[in-house]
Amino acid sequence: MSEKKKKENDVDAGAAASGARKAPEHKRRAAGASRSGANARAARQQRTDGTDTAAAKTSKPRNASGQRKTGGRRTKAERSSLFDFPDITPDDVVNAAADTPETAVSSRSAQNAAKGRRSGTRDASDRKTETKLRIIPLGGLGEIGKNMTAFEFGSDIVVIDCGMGFPEEDMPGVDLVIPDISYLTANREKVRGILLTHGHEDHIGAVPYVLKQLNVPVYGTALTLGIIKNKLSEHRLDFKPQLITVKAGDKVKLGVFEAEFIHVNHSIADSCAIALTTPRGVVVHSGDFKLDVTPIEGEMMDLTRFGELGKKGVKLLMCESTNAERSGFTPSERSVGGALENLFTANPDKRIVIATFSSNVHRVQQIIDISIRHGRRVALTGRSMLNVVSAACELGYMHFPEGTLVDIGDIKRFRPSDLTLITTGSQGEPMSALYRMAYGDHAQVTLSTSDLVVLSSSAIPGNEKYIGRIINELSRAGIKVITDSVFFGVHASGHACAEEIKLLQMLLKPKYYMPIHGEYRHLAANRDLALFAGMPADHIFMSDIGKVLEIGRNSAAWGGSVPSGKVLIDGYGVGDVGSAVLRDRQHLSQDGMVVVFASVDTTARLILTAPEIISRGFVYVPESEDLLYDARKAAAEEIQSGLSQRKPDIETIKERVRREVAKCLSSRTGRNPMVIPVIIDL
Ligand SMILES: [Zn+2]
Ligand SMILES: [Zn+2]
Repeated sequence: MSEKKKKENDVDAGAAASGARKAPEHKRRAAGASRSGANARAARQQRTDGTDTAAAKTSKPRNASGQRKTGGRRTKAERSSLFDFPDITPDDVVNAAADTPETAVSSRSAQNAAKGRRSGTRDASDRKTETKLRIIPLGGLGEIGKNMTAFEFGSDIVVIDCGMGFPEEDMPGVDLVIPDISYLTANREKVRGILLTHGHEDHIGAVPYVLKQLNVPVYGTALTLGIIKNKLSEHRLDFKPQLITVKAGDKVKLGVFEAEFIHVNHSIADSCAIALTTPRGVVVHSGDFKLDVTPIEGEMMDLTRFGELGKKGVKLLMCESTNAERSGFTPSERSVGGALENLFTANPDKRIVIATFSSNVHRVQQIIDISIRHGRRVALTGRSMLNVVSAACELGYMHFPEGTLVDIGDIKRFRPSDLTLITTGSQGEPMSALYRMAYGDHAQVTLSTSDLVVLSSSAIPGNEKYIGRIINELSRAGIKVITDSVFFGVHASGHACAEEIKLLQMLLKPKYYMPIHGEYRHLAANRDLALFAGMPADHIFMSDIGKVLEIGRNSAAWGGSVPSGKVLIDGYGVGDVGSAVLRDRQHLSQDGMVVVFASVDTTARLILTAPEIISRGFVYVPESEDLLYDARKAAAEEIQSGLSQRKPDIETIKERVRREVAKCLSSRTGRNPMVIPVIIDL
């Protein structure tokens, strides 16, 4: 990059970050629009003088008013009635090398355009060499969980969210999954910090693991950091993490970036969207959100601020997609209170056991409030429930009179009608408190027909089977189970439905759009909402993890890819369980294992200990003596033949034994256990 160019970039970066020296983008845009008539005239003149045939060929046909014919696409006028998009598309950028740019955004390019085609070419090459804002999703796209996105500009990177995911069925023994952050560790000197939108595991779960590799400041609201502190204390870091508490409305500066936290409603308190001011415009990351006009505590989502940002001009909106397939609006959290209240009224004699997400502080608060109104005490069970409630009480997010909570060990002192239990396990997680209750394995709680179990939750995709198992087990024991599908309203999602997503699109009027946070079907549904609202298809970027979107002053295009994927956590091991280990685990889990043990003397060419066979998970040994005898015989023959070679080699013998024993077992049983030869040369 030339020295001059570099300076321009620096100035631009500084101005965008401070918002002081340069006119706001919407003003520049307006100025650009008024100039575009002159530019178009200049462009037409070039074509009529016959010197610009290349441009004439590449430019699209225009209609009488000088607008490009857009074929099936909406015309500019139609579009702008829905969205305030500046009149420039990636097509324009591609054509810019040969065509005079019709829309001039900066005064510099306007002057260039007036000077003629040569300057236009220079402007296009500026675009090629300008520093781009790189949007790098590292998780959460095309998958549920492990949300993480990096934003890179020049020598600065900031990261939004740092979540974990759950292992798939083909990952036996894996505890959890975190994003591959090798791109960040390779650029560690650039990383200015991690910004957290809220305290859900799919947004913060990887923080302890990532901090071990990348000790950078972490910014989040009080509840978010409160939950993280609990987690970090279990991880025994050998340094003090830099946790910086922010609140909605705060702005923090990180390198060239400025991040503003904006209040949104969600199923955990203290959730934020983040508006990231970058040298290439404002990027809004929605976080997880819904619009709750009657929240339990605090305010409605800060629509005013989103509207202001929209007026100033938003370059890119990254919007969550979880409920994009659902029409309408998500019901208010307050409506759940009404439904639960009705259940309490209708079941005055039962002990009510409610399973919900422990992080849904407002839900837990509502259940406690209703219990108090119905003269009930409340007991909590499940580790995360106790953790979150204690953090929330400490930070002032929950309020109830002393004596409301009773220890789970004391519940036998209360009649069923005087008690509510709030428990974890709403996702059917094995070993969760509800799971143990259902299988009669909970130390303090024994369920009976005098209990009413309420699942005040919805299934995270993939967990339906586990939840079904618990409901079956409880039903078998004659215990009534209420779910949202049985008694409508005992749960409200924390995620925006179609109308709320469209509302955010309309308020922010982004130039570009990227659906995030969801499996592909959710992202596609979100894209369709943007198309329906009038966003041009080529302004919507359907991304994937590792896929880089590069945003320039007037362009947005794919910019290659970076390493991405899943890092598996098993016990204390981070990333040491790779595809080879998983393959072995799958193999073992399917047909079990057979160990062939023998000792030989390769020099004397003797078998010292005849082959013995130990098996696990393969066959029931007492009923398979013939089979195992044959396998031992096959092994002995192979060892003997190996020893009679000119130069007996122990590794060759092992491999031959493995192959022959596997063949023998497979032909007799149709199974393919893992065969491990342990042959020792003494
Ligand atoms: Zn969330
Ligand atoms: Zn989420």
